[in-house]
Amino acid sequence: MTPEQVISTLQSIRNTNPDNLMARHFNADYFRGLDAGLRQRLMKIIATGIENSDSQMGAYAMSPEDYDLFAPMLDPLIRDFHGIPEDVQIAQAHDWDSSKSSCDLGKIDPRLEAVSMRVRVARNLGSFPLPGAMTRDQRVALEDLAAEAFTHLCKDTNYGGQYLSITPGSPYEIDGAEYDRRVAAHQMFKDMSGDRYLNVAGISADWPYGRGMYVSGAQDFLVWVGEEDHLRIMAMQTGGNLNALFKRLHDGLGRLQELLPAFATSPVYGNVTSCPTNLGAGMRASLHMRLPGLTKNGQDLSRVKEDAKSLGLAVRGAGGEHSDAGEGGLVDISPSVRLGVTEMQIMQRLFDGAAALWAMESGSGPSSAE
Ligand code: ADP
Ligand code: MG
Repeated sequence: MTPEQVISTLQSIRNTNPDNLMARHFNADYFRGLDAGLRQRLMKIIATGIENSDSQMGAYAMSPEDYDLFAPMLDPLIRDFHGIPEDVQIAQAHDWDSSKSSCDLGKIDPRLEAVSMRVRVARNLGSFPLPGAMTRDQRVALEDLAAEAFTHLCKDTNYGGQYLSITPGSPYEIDGAEYDRRVAAHQMFKDMSGDRYLNVAGISADWPYGRGMYVSGAQDFLVWVGEEDHLRIMAMQTGGNLNALFKRLHDGLGRLQELLPAFATSPVYGNVTSCPTNLGAGMRASLHMRLPGLTKNGQDLSRVKEDAKSLGLAVRGAGGEHSDAGEGGLVDISPSVRLGVTEMQIMQRLFDGAAALWAMESGSGPSSAE
């Protein structure tokens, strides 16, 4: 496509798909003014939102410096997603001190003492391109670095566990049945090779090379290697104590920071991630809650999505992004904003949002927690 063809294609996507944030904020004059090399780099970043006009974001960074280099194009869509007005300076502070607030879901309702809780942070190593621009050798080299770090966790009684790889020929290789079992248990990520958004961005290229997962002995601390970001580091537990979940993640993250080369950060946007939706804290904290009343028993998520939006929460199906609600109205709720908020603010928003949704659910008919 010539630059003028790109510009006119984006104008029409803006009309047909007003929610495509990349198309909404595409700046034709800036695009025209770039030299050919930079224009080609920017094309790779926005290709997924052009080929997939139904994208919500429509852009993936290819290298950590892209956010600062292409700020005139990317900053407006980042602000739009994270709700930061143009005249407010972006500031990413960190705060993991959970001693000031007790987010115990059992205080909302004793039935919420046994929900499935998950909190993950996205991290990338500054020494590699982001996943959309990696070669197969780089993917495997990154996995080797991570696997070496995990050997230290495996020897530590606080962690233990094992590393499981799906790279053909890896010493840690698992078979297809084990992989399927881990996906069904919500531990391992899905086969990315069928994802059209990731395919266009190059993020799923070379599948399944360089992909795997560390899981602790207690199955409560996990690290994905080679998904949408180099690393997705997470704590998962069935329970109601969000403070304990956050502490588990923070401790494990600290250990990995000691064992790995430095993570990529931007002076403006904090932790750098492939997708602009994950910048900043890089954190998605979620609960699997049963909301049969608000979801018509899982048949219709439209109402709960609206209710949750007004509380700053996003709703996903129980199988993750782009999935439907599970049996009995099981949904995944999480605060949408990840930039300009601290880790503790995210935890508080999840707790407050869960309490408000639970009150709505309780007023809407018979309910039960999961
Ligand atoms: P993310 O993009 O934050 O990594 P996804 O939506 O891609 O999350 O989901 C990844 C996996 O994590 C899916 O299997 C999903 O069901 C699972 N998951 C997310 N939140 C929870 C939770 N609170 N409890 C159990 N599994 C969860
Ligand atoms: Mg995901």
